[in-house]
Amino acid sequence: METFTCHCGNTLFFENTQCVSCNSEVGWCPACHRISGLLVSPDGIYHCGYTACQALLVKCHNYAVEQVCNRCFPAGNHNQSVTQLCDYCRYNDTIPDLSVEGNRERWYRLETGKRRLLFTLDLLGLPYGKAGDGIQPALSFDFKADVHPSGNQWHTMGDHEQVFTGHHNGKITINLREAEDVEREKLRVSFGEAHRTIIGHFRHEIAHYYWEMLIQDKQEEEFNRIFGDYQQPTYAQALERHYREGPPSNWQARFISVYATMHPWEDFAETFAKYLAIVSVLDTARYTGIGEGIDPAKDDIAIMIRSYQRLGLGLNEMNRAMGLLDLMPEVLVPPVIEKLQYIHQIILEARSGGSTRSVTRLPT
Ligand SMILES: [Zn+2]
Ligand SMILES: [Zn+2]
Ligand SMILES: [Zn+2]
Ligand SMILES: [Zn+2]
Repeated sequence: METFTCHCGNTLFFENTQCVSCNSEVGWCPACHRISGLLVSPDGIYHCGYTACQALLVKCHNYAVEQVCNRCFPAGNHNQSVTQLCDYCRYNDTIPDLSVEGNRERWYRLETGKRRLLFTLDLLGLPYGKAGDGIQPALSFDFKADVHPSGNQWHTMGDHEQVFTGHHNGKITINLREAEDVEREKLRVSFGEAHRTIIGHFRHEIAHYYWEMLIQDKQEEEFNRIFGDYQQPTYAQALERHYREGPPSNWQARFISVYATMHPWEDFAETFAKYLAIVSVLDTARYTGIGEGIDPAKDDIAIMIRSYQRLGLGLNEMNRAMGLLDLMPEVLVPPVIEKLQYIHQIILEARSGGSTRSVTRLPT
């Protein structure tokens, strides 16, 4: 992730809604593809504070009213009488019940992860779309909480509903509990995971989305050769075995994580999620000046992996110096690298119009 510059010269970050130096409101400008200071014209319309752009903008409804987004859309499309959502919020099918205390904050955290996910997909030029956009499967998000008694009241989401974080036919569901730090850390420890993060969930679930879009009925033979036959055993059989027997003792020799050992679909999702993490780390390194200037939207996978591993040596030590978990705890063994190479290849083939951001980015 790059950092951005306000018209006052101050540095802005991807999540910002206000410049701490000049107090301007801040938002994503879709015209110049950057987080920019927002200037208000006399008629109440915003325009991008970036001198070379100055596009007329309207805040997303989830920014202006709900305060969980920081994106804008071009004012030209705006019908004042209609509530409009930005290019990222339009994928939300279900939002949390905001009458429940704390849910707005949880929703905000999920939106932050979702924006980072979609930004990475845009960086890579990966296709995604809603029903009617001509892309299958249609992408959508449900952010929901388990239904449970709270005091003497029941939340209004149906009876005894238990929400499973997962993907089904383009719909990504995230249980709101994943936005609570204590709950998420408890789950991380109980599952023996190196990391458990909101962005990690999004990266894992979007992998299942791309399996359906790019592999199912298209290149299943090649997939089976690299990840194993996804039909034998069936997913249900594999799940049952995984929770009965646990992972094979030498799983680190072939897999990126314990969960990846469960079934070829989960191996693909875990490895795809790691690929997106590598892209995000290298992109961030590039803009913060700590890396080797690798462009993950353009460079070769072998170069990307080498650079990521070099960064890991230093950044893990940095985290240990602060008493934190290793930033890059995994070992990328040759079978895992082969899977990452396959994922790199299918992403290159899936690119519709190249990287949207690299192409249009203007100099600061
Ligand atoms: Zn400023
Ligand atoms: Zn702009
Ligand atoms: Zn929005
Ligand atoms: Zn999965």
